[in-house]
Amino acid sequence: MSGSQSTLNVAHQALDFDRIRADFPLLSRSVHGKPLIYFDSANTSQKPAAVIEAVDHFYRQTNANVARAVHTLGDEATTAYEASRDKLARFINAPSRDEVIFTSGTTQAINLVAYSYALPRLNPGDAILVTQMEHHANIVPWQLICERSGATLKVAPITESGELIVERFFELLTPEVKLAAVTHVSNVLGTVNPIAVLARECHRRGIPLLVDGSQAAPHLRVDVRALGCDFYALTGHKLFGPTGTGLLWARREHLNAMPPFFGGGEMIREVRFEGTVFADPPHKFEAGTPNIAGFVGLGAALDYIELIGLDNIAARELELRVHLTEAMRSVPGLRIIGEAREKVPVNSFLIDGVHAHDLATLLDHEGVAVRSGHHCAHPLMQFYGVAATLRASLAFYNTHEEIDAFIAAIGRVRKLLA
Ligand code: PLP
Repeated sequence: MSGSQSTLNVAHQALDFDRIRADFPLLSRSVHGKPLIYFDSANTSQKPAAVIEAVDHFYRQTNANVARAVHTLGDEATTAYEASRDKLARFINAPSRDEVIFTSGTTQAINLVAYSYALPRLNPGDAILVTQMEHHANIVPWQLICERSGATLKVAPITESGELIVERFFELLTPEVKLAAVTHVSNVLGTVNPIAVLARECHRRGIPLLVDGSQAAPHLRVDVRALGCDFYALTGHKLFGPTGTGLLWARREHLNAMPPFFGGGEMIREVRFEGTVFADPPHKFEAGTPNIAGFVGLGAALDYIELIGLDNIAARELELRVHLTEAMRSVPGLRIIGEAREKVPVNSFLIDGVHAHDLATLLDHEGVAVRSGHHCAHPLMQFYGVAATLRASLAFYNTHEEIDAFIAAIGRVRKLLA
């Protein structure tokens, strides 16, 4: 074991991950009579009891609309909801809580930037730069605004092992590029992209950088100041929080310059039929009644993560990833897709002669939940020349025993398919 790895192990020795796992009620259920092995956290994570209880408590004790009522419940609801904005700002090290826009998730956050920031700035001949490994949420919004504006989409290539070819990315940052949009971590390959390096080069050329942080936030310390990006999007349900929650962080100068995307209640200072004066960010971008209980739950998720510690999570996941990868490599005919040097515990794979969906279905009967399909990344599937892969995606609540059971289950179902 390398020196740095053993230091990491010492850092989380004090934590009992079996006890931590017990904080996630769903993980103790069975599926088809077998103990559940949940290896689909990149799709959505499971929720600790603290999050479930926070949502339950909100509806039992606090439920009221935010920012409207002067009564006690309205005040308590607003305080709980806005406390989550402070927690999210701290979580990503945002310079100001006012730069944290609540959204329904990453998809809404990227669309907000596409329509409010990028579209008004795009002219025919301009371009948006993405990479080959993007999720559809970081491709389709750009295509839609390219169609409207006459701009085009440029794509930075990756290597066979699933790493961005950084020099090619730099070469593609030509003057017609008006925005670059890159995932922090690939949902298919698990690759961690060198965002700070990309941001530096983008800024040297005056090009803003949007980062899709959906798959990074559950695994890595996110520090938007250190990353140096312009926009950062993440989704709460992959971060141990409720569905329908997420954020867009953007530099204040961008938010000030962006017109609202949705109009309605909550986002105004004054409305007259002659015209409306909008509220300042973040509220300017938050029309209508939000997912109040969801954000209260997300705040509880962030408290929970803080309690465990991001360094402890990283150390635990490094151990799990090394074990998972070694065990998968020992399976004859199994090909891991995505072998980048910097990865999170997400391994896509294929097995010779076995259809991904068939294997996933049979694994489900063994209690193993893995995702099979294109993972909302058609262009990446096309790059690898496959229609689908299987994907085992882990979180800190998974165990070494589950990895061994997963490998044993693959052996059993393979015999059935032979
Ligand atoms: N980007 C990446 C890399 C993802 O993995 C996902 C979800 O799988 C998304 C964006 C979209 O997230 P949401 O559906 O929560 O908006």
